[in-house]
Amino acid sequence: MNSSVIDFLATEARFGARNYEPIGVVLSRGEGVWVWDTEGNRYLDCLSAYSAVNQGHCHPKILAAMVEQAHRLTLTSRAFHNDQLAPFYQEIAALTGSHKVLPMNSGAEAVESAIKSVRKWGYEVKGVPDGQAEIIACANNFHGRTLGIVGFSTDPETRTHFGPFAPGFKIIRFGDTAALEEAITQNTVAFLVEPIQGEAGVIIPPAGYFTKVRELCTANNVMLVLDEIQTGLGRTGKLLAEQHEAIEADVTLLGKALSGGFYPVSAVLSNNDVLGTLRPGQHGSTFGGNPLACAVARAAMRVLVEEGMIENAARQGARFLEGLKDIRANTIREVRGRGLMLAVELHPEAGRARRYCEALQGKGILAKDTHEHTIRIAPPLVITSDQVDWALEQFATTLTQDFS
Ligand SMILES: *Cc1c(COP(=O)(O)O)cnc(C)c1O
Repeated sequence: MNSSVIDFLATEARFGARNYEPIGVVLSRGEGVWVWDTEGNRYLDCLSAYSAVNQGHCHPKILAAMVEQAHRLTLTSRAFHNDQLAPFYQEIAALTGSHKVLPMNSGAEAVESAIKSVRKWGYEVKGVPDGQAEIIACANNFHGRTLGIVGFSTDPETRTHFGPFAPGFKIIRFGDTAALEEAITQNTVAFLVEPIQGEAGVIIPPAGYFTKVRELCTANNVMLVLDEIQTGLGRTGKLLAEQHEAIEADVTLLGKALSGGFYPVSAVLSNNDVLGTLRPGQHGSTFGGNPLACAVARAAMRVLVEEGMIENAARQGARFLEGLKDIRANTIREVRGRGLMLAVELHPEAGRARRYCEALQGKGILAKDTHEHTIRIAPPLVITSDQVDWALEQFATTLTQDFS
């Protein structure tokens, strides 16, 4: 590391809240699957900002839409209409087959908004006694960092010393339909779940899980809320991960790649009933649905489809997964993934995954460890076969080393 990099790290450490522990690289430029550090070293981005840059860094068409809109109008608040909101609604509804849209900014805000909406639906439509609504969520979930959300996290690091928390949540095992059936009561308004648990380490539920979940939710008049903030918008090789089991959620949450990484844009999508309960003044956001966000999101959705990124994610994801499975290294416990949402879980004896991520950095790959022993791999959906093959070579040489 040269002195300027050390300066950046020291200044961050001195002034910044230390709520992250980044890998020691300072990035200053990005294009497609590549990012460059301040010293001019190039890296293949295998995190994609936790899937916010599915469309690749600085996609020229999203950039053009953002610049063009920024010249015209950026923020009106929802006190007035703007000419980007209606087309955004139309296009996101057409893309996802949804009836109603609530635009927000961060993913966590979309989750919070969904929680408020399904509770309101529970009281006003389902007839749950006031104050009694229950929401079921899963162990090892990740839905964001607000107080409401961390209150039903099961990760001690996420929760400790942030309480007291709001009641009304029940936790069950992920991938276990018997547990869901048992947890549902008359007062259950929703089951909130990730199609694949991303932050937990890319945990894929058993085949048929969501088919059965859908049946149970329908039978009990419980809203199925799928948090597709990470799995949605092509990441798993389909537009939405729910399509792998041909089901439809009642409420779908999108964020991250909804802007291609340019801007925080999220959305709650629902059938008519759930978002239909919201009346003027009952929920809102100064920036939610602003013209800049809408213009950026429209371009981000358009390039995803027009440039075949979803199909590419399926194709390159299969190639990547197969290549990872072919690596013979006794550090590897399991390789798993769907589309370009991949993970290599190491044997605990192989040492911390972070050491492997640091070694990968030396080989021109940026990947992120999660939960001590798992390396997640999620490159932008524009990755080519040659780039996948090159990445696989770097993974093979790194994973056959021993950092224990
Ligand atoms: C990232 C993420 C969130 C939170 O999004 P923020 O924009 O960071 O608030 C919620 N749910 C899932 C599944 C995520 O991956």
